[in-house]
Amino acid sequence: MKKYPYLSFILLITLVYSCICNSIYYGALLDGHKFVIAFVLSFFASLPYWYFIGLFRALFYLLLPLTFIFSAVATYFVKVHNAEISKMSVIAIVETNPHEAIDVIDKTLVSYVIIAIILSAVCLYARTKLKRPPLQHNIVVLTLALLFALAYNFFKPEYLHHSNYSMPYVMWNATHKGIKRHIELKNIKRIALTDVATFERKDDSPLTVVFVIGESLRSDHLHINGYERNTTPYLDKSEAVAYKDAIACAASTSLSVPCMLTRANNIHDDSWSNETSFVSIFKSLGFETWWLSNQYNFRASESTTALIAAEADHIFRHKNSIIWGAKTLDTDLAPYIKDALATPASKKLIMVHTYGSHWHFDSKYMAEDAYFKPYCENKELSECSQEALVNSYDNSVRATDKFFGELFLMLANERAIVIYASDHGSELDNKEILNRSSKDVLNVPIIVWFSPALRQDARYKNVVKNSSKKIDHSYLFHSTTDCAGIESNIIDKGRSVCR
Ligand SMILES: [Zn+2]
Repeated sequence: MKKYPYLSFILLITLVYSCICNSIYYGALLDGHKFVIAFVLSFFASLPYWYFIGLFRALFYLLLPLTFIFSAVATYFVKVHNAEISKMSVIAIVETNPHEAIDVIDKTLVSYVIIAIILSAVCLYARTKLKRPPLQHNIVVLTLALLFALAYNFFKPEYLHHSNYSMPYVMWNATHKGIKRHIELKNIKRIALTDVATFERKDDSPLTVVFVIGESLRSDHLHINGYERNTTPYLDKSEAVAYKDAIACAASTSLSVPCMLTRANNIHDDSWSNETSFVSIFKSLGFETWWLSNQYNFRASESTTALIAAEADHIFRHKNSIIWGAKTLDTDLAPYIKDALATPASKKLIMVHTYGSHWHFDSKYMAEDAYFKPYCENKELSECSQEALVNSYDNSVRATDKFFGELFLMLANERAIVIYASDHGSELDNKEILNRSSKDVLNVPIIVWFSPALRQDARYKNVVKNSSKKIDHSYLFHSTTDCAGIESNIIDKGRSVCR
């Protein structure tokens, strides 16, 4: 191979890259002989990639480190969190707020990226010593690559369908599609529902509606829903009505939240991205509106949730959401809710975007509030036992319950309705905490509470009567508006818990 120094160099890069990335990628997807075939094919499939970018020094210096570092991150999510490499994963990453992102950075991810940087440096240095091969070599390799691609497309087995392309193609394909969709979402001109339908509220009585967007709360970890552990002491003694196992619209925050607040029936119904939310409806009927968030708010053009937040009169983001390593307690939002309640407006809609039980669980409660022990202080899942992981999660559920306790106390003397829904659930297996494909991730609690002043209302009686009904996120738009007494031909009373 001394005669072909460039080809030997590329073969070595391809071998190392395939052995690390494609063995992990296909290892998560396939087993037995399927894995071996896919892995061997991936070697030949990625060879032309490295061969051709290597021919142009500037391109190589740019693309090699980029491919290595992106692949390190993708491989980490596949291996540690059992995540898939897809367009949706890319949108979720692009629209993830920095705090959520920081919460998943652990020593393993950092070490993967460091290895990628070191390997890149070695390859870039080695490339400076090499000359470009003669044209006839390139023609031979190009011809072989083309023949291989043709044969591959013709003979590829069923399990290697288009979404199972090898690395790095699968990663770039997902990145391209995800970013394209993100840009499309950014440029959508949303339809104002108040322009296409009429809304009225005949009984213009004073009312405060607090809509709480929960985070990563599973339905089956609430004592009020029958969980054996004491996770919801405040909810248990309140008059809150819990709807068990409601079905979430999507398994990620960036898709689920817009779906919850708009007329979308599900994530395949484009209303979540191209129509305004119920916030605008309340505003048009004279409600003063707030968006209080414990999660980072993007500028309005950066995510669909931020576009909805921008419909509110007042937007407030807690500083916790931008401090590295800070505890993000939802009870820290209480003073801001109090301030909103103290304003003279007689009709209010207060949207509260909590941080709930998002991983990393331990940063969602104070050490002195850790009721279940031992718990998992460490972000390293490998150092966290299954028992400690569940304890940590249940401690975060108690923190949400404490938030409910404070909220109900603040609203005790108001004419108020609280509607809570978690955006999605959470996986609780310490091997795949960020896996979003199981049913546990879609079963969420929806909770409705009426203040004492409104408990004689027929609507409240209906909320209680409907408590065993199986509902889903599509009920939220219709229930929130209908329970507040808003009428319109686009409000589906059949999807209101107040009917
Ligand atoms: Zn979420």
